[in-house]
Amino acid sequence: MIIINGKKYYLKTKRELFTDEFQEILRKSYRRKERTGNRYVEKIFCACRARLYTAHLNKKNLYVLRTYPKETGRHRPSCIFHKDNADTFIEDSNEIVIASENLLFKTGSIIKNTKSSKTKPVKNGEYKEILGFNHLIFLLIDEAYSLVFNYTNKGTNRLSGNIKNVPTKEFIRFFKKIVHETKIKNGGTIEMALKKNNAFLYIDILTEYEEEENFIRYKTINKDEYIHLPKKIWDKAVRFAKIYNSVISPPYLLLKISKNRKTIRFFIMPVANTDTFIPVESNKERIIANKLVEDYKAIYKPLTTTSIKRVLTKDIAREFYKAVSPDTRPDFFVFKKNNIEVIEVVDENNRDPEYLERLKEKEAEYKKLSTLFFYRRLIL
Ligand SMILES: [Zn+2]
Repeated sequence: MIIINGKKYYLKTKRELFTDEFQEILRKSYRRKERTGNRYVEKIFCACRARLYTAHLNKKNLYVLRTYPKETGRHRPSCIFHKDNADTFIEDSNEIVIASENLLFKTGSIIKNTKSSKTKPVKNGEYKEILGFNHLIFLLIDEAYSLVFNYTNKGTNRLSGNIKNVPTKEFIRFFKKIVHETKIKNGGTIEMALKKNNAFLYIDILTEYEEEENFIRYKTINKDEYIHLPKKIWDKAVRFAKIYNSVISPPYLLLKISKNRKTIRFFIMPVANTDTFIPVESNKERIIANKLVEDYKAIYKPLTTTSIKRVLTKDIAREFYKAVSPDTRPDFFVFKKNNIEVIEVVDENNRDPEYLERLKEKEAEYKKLSTLFFYRRLIL
């Protein structure tokens, strides 16, 4: 999340600041700063409430947000402005580049704490890397999912009623391709770093698991026997995926890195079912997604606004963002003949004021959508 002059924008990645709509917001903000000569005139903060400022990259004519040097250490590892984040390098190259291969392997190393300039104990360093790893995987999934959706529907008009869902196998093929291509700052790619370190990246769909005291055992589509995993590693993955108290049951997309037959990185993301790749955030969303798939409807669950731009295609995305705020991301798009349904899955038991306020804002915006779109609120 970022806050610009009191308005909250719910961003999942820093990369989303490169959409035309956000560039316009940053451009205006930058101009106001230049015009007034007061660098604090704009009040811009990240989710950790560290102060940010707008900068202009002349060569690329891009507007970016930067952290004041003294505030650098304030970013939490989960913040998109954290210096070790895979997102950090996007503004330089417009592609995902990771800070170092440590994000993939290193555990238990001592990491310098920028805030106090003292070395921090092992645990915090490890946790920081795991958050960085999880964010990287999220970025790569968003990239692979939107690219494979467009590949599956290449040349098909989004309003033709002939859009198809993405088979899980195809998603996995694209994900591997992206791992093969994603660069590391000091040279090489993720795949090269894995090879050099005798490590493996494994991707599969987890179908069931059982919890024991110190470990869990799980099964996947491709391996029928139980695989064991230390509970400590599992708990961290669960925390990131926000699957509190097993509220969202499998299937999960599973990604892990192993070295010397030991799992060192583990990531899970709930999906609608085992055959079609559709990420879901709750059991309710899963029921709705599966119902739509059974009715032969093509759906897309946008993880970021960057991927919305890509999958709706340029002109339709422009129509969408004419009506809504640049950070608006519905739960699903359903591709029908002559229009695209915009769906919010509403949890009536959720009393969180921030959630309710944002929902109200979004629904007011959806009323302004053109006839290319049709808004539906779904309650289970
Ligand atoms: Zn921050």
